[in-house]
Amino acid sequence: MAWRASVLTIFPDMFPGPLGLSLAGKALSAGIWALDTTDIRQHATDKHRSVDDTPAGGGPGMVMRPDVLARAIDSIAGDRPRLLMSPRGRPLTQARVEALAGKDGVIIVCGRFEGVDERVILARDLEEISVGDYVLSGGEIAAMTLIDACVRLLPGVMGKEASGVEESFAAGLLEYPQYTRPAVWEGQKIPDVLISGDHAKVAGFRRAEAERLTRERRPDLWARRTDRSRESGEP
Ligand code: SAH
Repeated sequence: MAWRASVLTIFPDMFPGPLGLSLAGKALSAGIWALDTTDIRQHATDKHRSVDDTPAGGGPGMVMRPDVLARAIDSIAGDRPRLLMSPRGRPLTQARVEALAGKDGVIIVCGRFEGVDERVILARDLEEISVGDYVLSGGEIAAMTLIDACVRLLPGVMGKEASGVEESFAAGLLEYPQYTRPAVWEGQKIPDVLISGDHAKVAGFRRAEAERLTRERRPDLWARRTDRSRESGEP
């Protein structure tokens, strides 16, 4: 059965959007993954089809109603992780993406306005996931980010199976610098080692560069990585 993303949103027309093109789009047409959207507004009951109301306790903006959202969630079949895109969530990592890609799929709730009523998060056991420490105007682009990251890992999506293995984060490191033709461009040469044909030297160069970039740019990743090597008894 294809990996399935079920997205709950008040803007179903945003999908598949960019997920309908390129790698993800081809895989969608090929049936490697499937996408369905649920219009949360269809589950409203009043004549204005309202999905939001003013925040209890006052303050700006509107909050998504728990009853309408719960009805929308309950209309989705299948036992998959239920995620809520949220800046308060646990930051999305490649490890979590790999875990999600390895299951049957995901159910994703996209927030809008000031967010969703806390009670529905508890009652429907929604796992809050963030795509970074900044605030978007809605969960849809965050959901697309998560889906895109998962879909490219599904078997048969990326041209070469290996291209996912050596990437940034796969080994707890950022990726080494990449080069392609022309051999000299604006006076800059491709490093000699990469055209030496010596595979061991190429691997050594890439490893050293990946470590250097990670140390320089992401001391947080570097610290976690060395912690892990210590635990597993690696040098
Ligand atoms: N008032 C909220 C922000 C609401 S933004 C707060 O301060 O936490 C509206 C919606 O956009 C959120 O409900 C969420 O679904 C989505 N969103 C915004 N930023 C996000 C992020 N960094 N990661 C994931 N979803 C995000």
